[in-house]
Amino acid sequence: MTDDYEHYEAVVVGAGPGGAAAAATLARNGVETLVLERGVDAGSKNVSGGLIYAEESSPYTIDELFPGFREEASDREVTEHYIHNVAGREVKTFDLGELHHHDTEWADSVLRRKMDSWLAREVHEMTRETGGGLLTEVRVNGLLREGAEIVGVTCDELDPIEADVIIAADGVNSELARDAGLMDWEEPDEWFQGVKAVVDMPEGAIEGRFDVDGDEGVAHLFSGDLFENVRGGGFLYTNDESLSIGTVFHLDSIADERAEPQELLDNLLTHPLLTDWLGGEYDELEYSAKLVPDSKKVAHPSPYRDRLLLVGDAAGQMQAQGPIIKGMNHAVTAGALAAEAFVDARSRGDTDAAGERYVAKLEAEGVMDKLRPTRYRTLGKLGEVGPVASAMDAVTDSVVGRAAISALGDRAESLFNSPFLMGMLPDTRMGYVTVPTVIAEELGEPVDGLNTVEPPELDDRIGDLTYDVDEGNPHIELRDNAFAASGTAVTACPVSAEDFGGGCYRDEYVGTNGTEEHVVSLDTQPCVECGTCAVVADTDWTHPRGGKGVEYERG
Ligand SMILES: Cc1cc2nc3c(=O)[nH]c(=O)nc-3n(C[C@H](O)[C@H](O)[C@H](O)COP(=O)(O)OP(=O)(O)OC[C@H]3O[C@@H](n4cnc5c(N)ncnc54)[C@H](O)[C@@H]3O)c2cc1C
Ligand code: SF4
Repeated sequence: MTDDYEHYEAVVVGAGPGGAAAAATLARNGVETLVLERGVDAGSKNVSGGLIYAEESSPYTIDELFPGFREEASDREVTEHYIHNVAGREVKTFDLGELHHHDTEWADSVLRRKMDSWLAREVHEMTRETGGGLLTEVRVNGLLREGAEIVGVTCDELDPIEADVIIAADGVNSELARDAGLMDWEEPDEWFQGVKAVVDMPEGAIEGRFDVDGDEGVAHLFSGDLFENVRGGGFLYTNDESLSIGTVFHLDSIADERAEPQELLDNLLTHPLLTDWLGGEYDELEYSAKLVPDSKKVAHPSPYRDRLLLVGDAAGQMQAQGPIIKGMNHAVTAGALAAEAFVDARSRGDTDAAGERYVAKLEAEGVMDKLRPTRYRTLGKLGEVGPVASAMDAVTDSVVGRAAISALGDRAESLFNSPFLMGMLPDTRMGYVTVPTVIAEELGEPVDGLNTVEPPELDDRIGDLTYDVDEGNPHIELRDNAFAASGTAVTACPVSAEDFGGGCYRDEYVGTNGTEEHVVSLDTQPCVECGTCAVVADTDWTHPRGGKGVEYERG
């Protein structure tokens, strides 16, 4: 069997930051490496907020692996970081500088199409020198097995390929992790959903409106009563000539509240606080969405099986450190550590030991403790138990809680800046909604601006995206169209909405023999491949074939 297939020493699946870091490290060590990416271009399927961090304590950072990264592939260095606690028009702003600078060497704003395609060009050059290269428009659809053992990958567009190591950097909707039994679409509370708008800025506007120099940037975060009780928050990051404005919410909370993601984003876009920054003009360049894993709950403690090693979102390694989101840097670190583990194992003539070595490195380098902090497991999770969470919420909103917050005054800012506290915050309304709202009500000042922005309608947002629709090959099959099984997707799908007929999921009443059945129907043509419905609806969910589906220009 083995002789029948093309063989590489290493196959890396996915050309996001995790895959790029793995491939660069393998190639530098002379490992023959083939990288397979399903998008027409690296980055065309990817979305992030996005600030990429270089952590002081991390063994690998993106600029060390790719010299020239910051000059060529990122936008602005973000040096200022604020969080706005909002209650109606009342806003209390805290400087998050200390939390942001904690363990941070630098943080740059990025757009994924630009960043990932730059990385891919570098990776292609490096891997070609070892006899491999990077191929786009190839979707890996499963694992090649010899007996029960994983020995390679199978693809839609190519014959099966064998490898001594397979690094799955295929992101949050990893089909390889699922095929290996290392990830399942489990519960909505293990995921966040992010929705984002990239907004055009006239020349010089960022410097003028945000009071920053030409190469400097700023990050603004938002929480409080802006988001209709859905647990999560908003962000605004300055790029070179655009803004990334978005929201990230716990998926279970979106599902429970039957919230519509694009409406929650619009709540932020139309808040008076954004008036001066948006300058009355609003030109939305791109609308996008994606799931991300909550590493506190799903970062896999042993992310390997046989020759398959998972890195980045595929291994659940996306950290929400309070309001700060760190996924790209962890994907970079894990990708490089997985590659390093293979190189070590190969030098000892025992490539089968790569997985074990990778796990040991994740532990030894402190990565696992950042992803799944012990203090969250011991204290944070306790706060999520229903009665405890309700009691904490009630106390915060009580006369006593309000008096305590009033008395704290600006000292509350230092609590927001504590990495220790942020690492054990329970995922409840208290942290995301109640505390920020009470802070704004007790300590805030009203914002004067009149925000006249009218965000685009959903059909314009979808219509402006680029699609290469795979007629006749739907990548999602609805297994159960009963409303009880799949109805949540009608609202939680970021390109569907109740009362809107042009998106992916719709509900209808179908009459049969005098009874009426409430059912869901699906049209995947406008799908942005976010992954949400794989968790909240009863579906068979896969990626579209290579190059097909949505193509982001920015990400
Ligand atoms: C709204 C939002 C805001 C975020 N904000 C931030 C932030 O500010 N900072 C931060 O660090 N992180 C942020 N993240 C998280 C961050 O984007 C991810 O953690 C990070 O991209 C993970 O990197 P990765 O390399 O593991 O996967 P990805 O970047 O998802 O890359 C996976 C790659 O694999 C490819 N692929 C997938 N399946 C296949 C297949 N079967 N065959 C071939 N190729 C395949 C994909 O096309 C893609 O290119 C945010 C995410 C979202 C959605
Ligand atoms: S159909 Fe599913 S994957 Fe596609 S955009 Fe809607 S929720 Fe996301």
